[in-house]
Amino acid sequence: MPAPDLAALMAPRGFSDPAASHNQQQAAPALPVPCPTESDVDAMKSSPLTLAPAPRSEAAEKVRAEVREFLTSELEAGTFETHVDTWLSGVDPAFSKKLGERGWLGMTWPSKYGGHERTAQERYAVTEELLAAGAPVAAHWIADRQSGPNLLRYGTERQRAEILPRIAAGECYFVIGMSEPDSGSDLASIRTRATRNQAGDWVVNGSKVWTSNAHHSHYAITLVRSDPPGEGPRGRHQGLTQLLIDLSLPGITINPIRILDGGHHFNEVVFDDVVVPGDMLLGEQGAGWHQVSAELAFERSGPERFLSTLPLLVAFGRLAAETLDPAQLATLGRLSARLLALRQLSLRIAAALDRGELPDLPAAMVKDVGTTFEVDIIDEIRRVVDVVPSLDSDDALARALAEAQLHAPGYTLRGGTNEILRGIVARGLGLR
Ligand SMILES: Cc1cc2nc3c(=O)[nH]c(=O)nc-3n(C[C@H](O)[C@H](O)[C@H](O)COP(=O)(O)OP(=O)(O)OC[C@H]3O[C@@H](n4cnc5c(N)ncnc54)[C@H](O)[C@@H]3O)c2cc1C
Repeated sequence: MPAPDLAALMAPRGFSDPAASHNQQQAAPALPVPCPTESDVDAMKSSPLTLAPAPRSEAAEKVRAEVREFLTSELEAGTFETHVDTWLSGVDPAFSKKLGERGWLGMTWPSKYGGHERTAQERYAVTEELLAAGAPVAAHWIADRQSGPNLLRYGTERQRAEILPRIAAGECYFVIGMSEPDSGSDLASIRTRATRNQAGDWVVNGSKVWTSNAHHSHYAITLVRSDPPGEGPRGRHQGLTQLLIDLSLPGITINPIRILDGGHHFNEVVFDDVVVPGDMLLGEQGAGWHQVSAELAFERSGPERFLSTLPLLVAFGRLAAETLDPAQLATLGRLSARLLALRQLSLRIAAALDRGELPDLPAAMVKDVGTTFEVDIIDEIRRVVDVVPSLDSDDALARALAEAQLHAPGYTLRGGTNEILRGIVARGLGLR
């Protein structure tokens, strides 16, 4: 039996493994994936549960090819190695700057803020290629994905003009300052306080936790309680405010929290009488809940919600192609089918963003099934390989398995747990 063409399996219209395609010196043949036309899309408008198909974007395929070529040459030059979950743990400012120079950050933003006025589908192609290659993208990831769009929507002209071009250049990094030691899912219960002093500045006290990459970043968009809660069941949503806090200000302490593999990615950030200039209010005082909800929609909608462990699947696919073991091939087939279906759903979200829709319910659903898939990849592969996971191994599969396993507790928690997402979907459908 001939060896299955792994590249074709994993890369019908995306997901190439740059190292593999470099070795083969051949583009993967396209699988016959049906591609909707513009009129199909018009005929099938989105509803809360039904997203219209994503039309094929020539521009997205063009930039995809450019990114693959770039990644292949960077891998060849040894500037990075493939790892699992690099959008959390792969911090490399030099790599982020290279992406900025190529116009692959701030892609959808207006050019007057350093952006490139490209489509969400083009941005999607860039991000999925970077994730599929396990490239070190964590330094800029939050700023490019959600802080920049948040500033575009709610920032003052001065905030946008000063900060957005630096994000687009890959030089300015952000963190999400939402969770606290006793407030995660129940975000409205946060206790970090901000009061105005006589000069009109904010004085901030409290602490944030699980703050990814605060020790490498410049700003935290921080949710604080600025005013008392209102009355009634949703009263706690009132009196919350977002502040743009420079992480180098006096009174801020950043304490590391290590994850299972010993890596330092997230932190506790303590604010002790930190004086934040009054003009660093983001949006409106008291509108923090509404703004955070919009920010979370960006946080939940991207391909990183099902691709964190893809480098493990690629390493496993190489093994299965070598051994031709029937159990391994069946596992590879099952996981690849799920991957392709998830990708179609996720692409539809990018296309919906291009149409100006707010696909927050589908994004919550895709994140739920996507992060479950990230964990299932590990469990299914472990059942059919005789490989001892090891972070220090020279074997790509053993290393990817160890990395994926040790990061796994976070996949279904970060950005809102799956239980919370299901509650959001139920509410959106009028079921609660
Ligand atoms: C890798 C990683 C990176 C992170 N990075 C950041 C960051 O940069 N910035 C930031 O602000 N936060 C960050 N977080 C925090 C993340 O947003 C929270 O962990 C998450 O919102 C859950 O909150 P919690 O940990 O307090 O758990 P809890 O809210 O205490 O939940 C514990 C369990 O109870 C369940 N549960 C809670 N409430 C309900 C309910 N109403 N119905 C059903 N089940 C419920 C949850 O689903 C969960 O299983 C990160 C988390 C991880 C794992």
